[in-house]
Amino acid sequence: MNKQEKLAILKDMINIDSTNGNEEEVADYLLKQFAKYGILSEKVAYSEARTNLVSKIGGKNGKVLGFSGHMDVVDAGDRKAWKTPPFQATESDGKLFGRGSTDMKSGLAAMVIAMIELEQEGKLIDGQIKLLATIGEEIGEIGAAQLTTLGYADDLDGLIIGEPSVRQIIYAHKGSMNYTLVSYGKNAHSSTPELGINAIDNLMLFYKEVEQYVAGIHQTNDILGVFTHNVTVIEGGNQVNSIPARAQLQGNIRTIPEVDNEKTEQVFCTIVSKLNKQEGVHLEITWDYNKMPVFSDPKSNLVKIAESIAKEQFGKTIPIIGLAGTTDAAEFIKAKNQFPLIIFGPGNNTPHEVNEYVDIENYLEMIDVYKAIAIQFLK
Ligand SMILES: [Zn+2]
Repeated sequence: MNKQEKLAILKDMINIDSTNGNEEEVADYLLKQFAKYGILSEKVAYSEARTNLVSKIGGKNGKVLGFSGHMDVVDAGDRKAWKTPPFQATESDGKLFGRGSTDMKSGLAAMVIAMIELEQEGKLIDGQIKLLATIGEEIGEIGAAQLTTLGYADDLDGLIIGEPSVRQIIYAHKGSMNYTLVSYGKNAHSSTPELGINAIDNLMLFYKEVEQYVAGIHQTNDILGVFTHNVTVIEGGNQVNSIPARAQLQGNIRTIPEVDNEKTEQVFCTIVSKLNKQEGVHLEITWDYNKMPVFSDPKSNLVKIAESIAKEQFGKTIPIIGLAGTTDAAEFIKAKNQFPLIIFGPGNNTPHEVNEYVDIENYLEMIDVYKAIAIQFLK
């Protein structure tokens, strides 16, 4: 494929508005591109207009390398702040602008093109590449969860997630959890508070206990850093001279292997049940989102190969690091077998921002990087 054809595929993908849904159009587009070269794909439906895509090249023998990228993008945000229409890929000054250019249609397109070229060139003698294109990464990694539950990741010997990694290889990231805590009280006139139960007061009991617990965590992870907890949404009461009967807060937690999701859930639930023993306190906690930390081996074969190929391609050694944000990897690691994984893809620090862009050179070079990694890994 020449440069223009490679760019055209990425532009077509950006021009499909797949904001938190509508991924089927992207899946159909990719399926058609693969079909032109005789590559078979399977659609794995999630719901109306939402379909994962699994495509394979290579033989039945040898290792299986997974390529994965998500097809959804986040909302365009403030459209007036965009210099170019978010769903109309626009080239300017060596950059390609548009929602999803960095996160992560460039990574997905680069993987698809790498597979098509390897198939055309007949370079893949051993092993297999399996593309897992997912839906709903941005809203709960639901596509990766579905594919993992159905066993699509069970035969992987390695996995590359093409999320933007700013010319770095990522092998670990924190976990992420969201929860909602509701405090139930009893309304009363604020002149006679003794007749009511102040739901906000009781909510704050929880808040204080949790903050105290977090302040007492001294374990850190050398790569990922510290455990964090933040209350991000709070609401309660509806009238200034009434004792509030209901209040709630929502929090986000970023976990590390030393203080993982299971431990966190246990501690938070213990705090709730302890406080509920106090008279008048009625708290209920719900876990809305629960993604495990990912910690792959930094010395794995896959990391070493990616590192040496990146060095060749970029002309310098690139960093091998951990990351705070979560990815589909948090779901794929639940597969039956363990395998090394890396997050390595074109893109920069503009995901979710207005005027998101990808450097065209970075996008194109990653196609060659993916090809070279696959050939070496599967040899
Ligand atoms: Zn992403």
